[in-house]
Amino acid sequence: MTALIETDEQTALRTSVAALGKRYGRDYFAQVVADGTHTDALWEEAAKLGYLGVNLPEAYGGGGAGIQELSIVLEELGAAGCPLLMLVVSPAICGTVIARFGTAEQKKKWLPGMANGSLKMAFGITEPDAGSNAHRITTTARRDAATGEWVLTGRKVFISGVDIAEATLVVGRTEDARTGKLKPCLFIVPRDAPGFSRNRIDMEIDAPEKQFELVLDDVRLPAEALVGEDDEDAGLLQLFAGLNPERIMTAAFALGMARHALGKAVEYARIRQVWKEPIGAHQAIAHPLAQAHIEVECARLMTQKAAQLYDAGDDVGAGEAANMAKYAAAEACVRAVDQSVHTLGGNGLTREYGLAALITASRVARIAPVSREMILNYVSHQTLGLPKSY
Ligand SMILES: Cc1cc2nc3c(=O)[nH]c(=O)nc-3n(C[C@H](O)[C@H](O)[C@H](O)COP(=O)(O)OP(=O)(O)OC[C@H]3O[C@@H](n4cnc5c(N)ncnc54)[C@H](O)[C@@H]3O)c2cc1C
Repeated sequence: MTALIETDEQTALRTSVAALGKRYGRDYFAQVVADGTHTDALWEEAAKLGYLGVNLPEAYGGGGAGIQELSIVLEELGAAGCPLLMLVVSPAICGTVIARFGTAEQKKKWLPGMANGSLKMAFGITEPDAGSNAHRITTTARRDAATGEWVLTGRKVFISGVDIAEATLVVGRTEDARTGKLKPCLFIVPRDAPGFSRNRIDMEIDAPEKQFELVLDDVRLPAEALVGEDDEDAGLLQLFAGLNPERIMTAAFALGMARHALGKAVEYARIRQVWKEPIGAHQAIAHPLAQAHIEVECARLMTQKAAQLYDAGDDVGAGEAANMAKYAAAEACVRAVDQSVHTLGGNGLTREYGLAALITASRVARIAPVSREMILNYVSHQTLGLPKSY
């Protein structure tokens, strides 16, 4: 691997994370899901090795590296069959937003715990009546003039890991003091805040992290729950700071899953023999696997580009690349999983081989955090300059 793509340190990180992932593996993950528990043991070990906070500032106990390193951690654990979904939201989105825009107090309060894995933060933007159109979100924050507190009201859906996160970073809107228009603002809402309740959504996804509907019913928060100094103008900037890491990490999540599935399929195709050669000798089996492998490699290259641009401080360049990387990785993942399941014939649908559940799981990256169509819209409008239909 040349330094153009990854440095020697990054390649070494890949190797050591892969070794950790291998020690746990898919059987561990499947057992955790079957028991209805969480990947705490892996989470804690990864934290001790400095992997979870690798992107967070050293001053707060992090590794002082970037999203590229964190995406390597997620991809390699996923390739080993045990992805840690909360890496996408806690250190990548919430950690980045707080590290870049939080007050000194907020950094001191949240970042060391995120870096050492002792606390997690969920991220809530999606709403039932807004979905892909984030401009329509109605979760509203108003200031209580008497106490200076914020009062938050609204609903969110599909928010991951709220039950295991000490707090959720909630995207709301406040009225701009000058223009009177509503603009986005981020609030840190502790899990036990009065008026903050959650209902688990029954998802058909085999994963330890669950999704929740959240109800914010006049949730009162202290003035310092607003992320950033009391300069509400930074709201949009703060929000966007978290979105690029989110897309890059979702790409890494998809790449890990694709590699895990392909690894199993290739191993099977080498051994399974029903005619005179193993099935992997038939081009109808070999070529789609080779094609899937190429698509994964290309998507990883785009993911590395996006991460490098982001870590170099080019938020605009990273925006386009991160969207393209998320799209490419999600599509590569869906196709890789599909082909892997098919390669195993009937065994592709048995629990023993563990691939069938990935058919559902592989769709997640196509839908979230921004759907395939919204990325195609973005590229049509922003990159190609085509007119908008909506
Ligand atoms: C497993 C999982 C975990 C999630 N975790 C989180 C989380 O932690 N935090 C969070 O905030 N959200 C989370 N989400 C929510 C996710 O980000 C949303 O589901 C996603 O943004 C799509 O929104 P929606 O489901 O409302 O779909 P909709 O917006 O209703 O879209 C439905 C379909 O219509 C298409 N569509 C919509 N508008 C257009 C258009 N203009 N042009 C073309 N097609 C269009 C979409 O592409 C999609 O195919 C999660 C979702 C899942 C499935």
